Amino acid sequence: ELFPGDQSGNPRQRQTPKVLFASTNIAGFPEAELLILNDRLASEIGLGKLEAPADSDFVNATKLPNHIKTYATAYAGHQFGNWAGQLGDGRAIFAGEIKNESGRKTELQWKGAGATPYSRHADGRAVLRSSVREYLMSEAMFHLGVPTTRALSLSLSGEQVLRDIMYSGNPEYEKGAVMMRTADSFLRFGHFQLLAAQDEIDTLRNLADYVIENHYPEINKESSDKYTELMRQISVRTADLMVEWYRVGFVHGVMNTDNMSVLGLTIDYGPFSFLDEYSLNFTPNTTDLPGRRYAFGNQAKVAQWNLWQLASALFPLINDAEVLEQILDDFSTYFWTKHDEMMASKFGFDQITEGDNDFFTTAQTLLDDLKMDYTLFFTQLEKLTDDVDIMTLFNDVFYTRPTDNQTFQFIEFIQNYRNRLSKNLISKAQSQSIMQAVNPKFILRNYILFDCIAELHEGKHDLLNKVLTALENPYEELFPEFSKRRPPGYDGTPGCSTL
Ligand code: AMP
Ligand code: MG
Ligand code: MG
Repeated sequence: ELFPGDQSGNPRQRQTPKVLFASTNIAGFPEAELLILNDRLASEIGLGKLEAPADSDFVNATKLPNHIKTYATAYAGHQFGNWAGQLGDGRAIFAGEIKNESGRKTELQWKGAGATPYSRHADGRAVLRSSVREYLMSEAMFHLGVPTTRALSLSLSGEQVLRDIMYSGNPEYEKGAVMMRTADSFLRFGHFQLLAAQDEIDTLRNLADYVIENHYPEINKESSDKYTELMRQISVRTADLMVEWYRVGFVHGVMNTDNMSVLGLTIDYGPFSFLDEYSLNFTPNTTDLPGRRYAFGNQAKVAQWNLWQLASALFPLINDAEVLEQILDDFSTYFWTKHDEMMASKFGFDQITEGDNDFFTTAQTLLDDLKMDYTLFFTQLEKLTDDVDIMTLFNDVFYTRPTDNQTFQFIEFIQNYRNRLSKNLISKAQSQSIMQAVNPKFILRNYILFDCIAELHEGKHDLLNKVLTALENPYEELFPEFSKRRPPGYDGTPGCSTL
């Protein structure tokens, strides 16, 4: 029985004791149509040029060569702070691993290629809307320099898929899609959590050994505290990732433990959004209201909470609560040090001096209170000279006109900033180049994605092609129309559903 029901008749996750995977076939989409192919990524991972019809049959999930054995993996997780048990992966199917010429291995999987033994009642499909969002955003993050899973291809599946994005009770058909994505590993906190919850300690140890062996070469395999070291390294990578999200203004939106990568990658692109106006309280996830657990400003705290859950899962291998607590405490110290270094570089400071910390806090409060665009604020700040008129320079950064009092506050803040800059031991040009390296000129704003998806539904690709060029060069201003505030009329733009 592939999908056994429980006592109440509800379908439940298939149990696969002692292993984290189950063989599964792709649905096979005879009418699929390739929309985007990432040639550069294909050749980097060792796939080479995709030319033959069999190649597009592969990425489109239409038909596979016999030697490819497909499978899905199982994982568990905490969703919105609650233990949800086994819950994934119902719609990611692995094609396996590929090795490139230099021996680097990459995992390859389809998302939306059909139901798996772990799908429960769900269809294993993905729609064009959310697949375009994931394809473009994961590539945008990569080119920004943020650790992430990557997108290899995006295809229309040729199917119509039933979805109820507004939870209205009136589902509608949408264009189905399938994408291929890659990562050094798609392993999540939730894989460890599932094994720990099922008390499968041998498999848990095997998995930890596998991760150390394949993904953490800096850890000594012979060492008796290798699992502690693994926990520490995952914690460091996760903190580094949070700093990167704060640098570019990224809000993930669903930081459940099953959406946390053990390699510190951005994974599972659902209701994410970049910030337009700066707000620590902002969440793009409409199911995260009113709690705002996954709001922009909470992300580091939530990451730490998630690391606690990972530590609990690894406990049977470590058996030392004190050392685990120390690692989790160190997370905060490490995060804030890195965070402040990152903020210093956004402002073009050569080092962190006394008072900079308060300066960053004042800046954050001001950005929030005066409804300033996070990205545009820093790109304009780079252009600040001694003789420029401040309110003219920043004119297009505000979402609402500042009051007289706010204008006064802002000018005072910029004066303080100039004073601080004058204490730099590096030249103005050096300071500017630090800023230019960390402050993006192009971010993939939610409204751009919204327009892009609307065009694609009409069969038009112009905006898509432009966006693909822009996102590959995020530290340049290639298209002035993208370097603007979110236009009026796009507030609360839908299209953020994870379904
Ligand atoms: P997410 O909220 O996106 O992290 O999804 C949680 C889990 O729900 C995923 O790991 C999948 O296993 C499952 N899931 C989401 N959408 C589908 C779908 N359309 N079909 C099958 N499983 C799904
Ligand atoms: Mg997920
Ligand atoms: Mg998802």
